Amino acid sequence: MTHANLWAPWRMEYMNRLIQDEKSSCFLCDAWAHPDRDDEQLVVWRSRLSMIILNRYPYTNGHLLVAPADHLSDLTDLTGEQRADLMETSVLAERLIRLTLNPQGINMGLNLGRCAGAGLPGHVHMHVVPRWGGDTNFMQVVGRVRVIPQANEAIFREFKAALPKVLEK
Ligand SMILES: [Zn+2]
Repeated sequence: MTHANLWAPWRMEYMNRLIQDEKSSCFLCDAWAHPDRDDEQLVVWRSRLSMIILNRYPYTNGHLLVAPADHLSDLTDLTGEQRADLMETSVLAERLIRLTLNPQGINMGLNLGRCAGAGLPGHVHMHVVPRWGGDTNFMQVVGRVRVIPQANEAIFREFKAALPKVLEK
């Protein structure tokens, strides 16, 4: 029996290229790689290992995403340090939403894998979504189109303005 197929360096190259292609079309990797374009990319805050970014296609106004710098698809792929940083940064996002939007509740969660609802399955990200009583009815009626870009930009500026207060805690 031969195991020649086990030694396939071209396969590794192919896999690396696939990963590279996926990363180059990943808006989270793109955002992390260009700190000079944070305002344009709606990056609210960067820690050493993660960032808070305002979702351009939100479930509701003020929907934040918290993502590690590295293009990794599962929590198990992250180091303990990356996970701890992701959680601390998520808490910061929660505080930002509370202070700025004063919601009645907040949904926080991860969708791991496309069948679990991940729109970007290759790069793990925490959703932090402000909620108000009755907002589900509103969402069912108008869906995503209700969020006009101007509203998103205004909220982005509010989040940025609230940052110093949130960080000093
Ligand atoms: Zn990525």
